[in-house]
Amino acid sequence: MHLWKEGDRSEAICRACEKRVTTRFAVRGYTLQESQVEVPDLLVAVCDECGGIVAIPAQSSPRLKEARERRKAESLEAKIPSHLDDVIHLLAERFATAVAAFRPDLLRFYLGEVISDAPFAERVKALAASELAEGRARMRISLRAPEDMLGAARDAARSVGILTDADLIRGILVAAKEDVLEGMTPERALRLSGAAQAEGALRAAMT
Ligand SMILES: [Zn+2]
Repeated sequence: MHLWKEGDRSEAICRACEKRVTTRFAVRGYTLQESQVEVPDLLVAVCDECGGIVAIPAQSSPRLKEARERRKAESLEAKIPSHLDDVIHLLAERFATAVAAFRPDLLRFYLGEVISDAPFAERVKALAASELAEGRARMRISLRAPEDMLGAARDAARSVGILTDADLIRGILVAAKEDVLEGMTPERALRLSGAAQAEGALRAAMT
């Protein structure tokens, strides 16, 4: 395997220039198109004519892979039926908070419950299979959270048989509907309300 280094020269087809061009290897920040993940300090081949990145040498692929995996470990993405996103809106209204800011607070709060409360995790599994959790998954939901927390939540979920992030989120949202909107678990609703208000007060204080 040839190991390229900064300043080396080569040739490649540049899509922007639509022809074969001479290139120079340079170390640059690179953004993964599919996920918008920033990969710092990647060796790439740069077009001499337009300055665009035209190629990424094979030796850079482990860095790309690492960046993709890091992103995966820090983010949770799932598609859910729109009536379950309505649950988030209803809860935000209940707690008189802005839905965009409340959504990640809600999900992190319930991931914490899944981690710390095994019977609750079992309930989430059952609710993920309930009729209310069904429906065409058309709303994309995503959450950034510390890798430790997501890892612990996924482990707790897997240990009770929740196999996908989508099932985890669907079960959590049905549980939140029951806990708060149906008043089934006032103690948890109170703690969630406190968490939402603390976050809101923190944001207000920071702006
Ligand atoms: Zn070019």
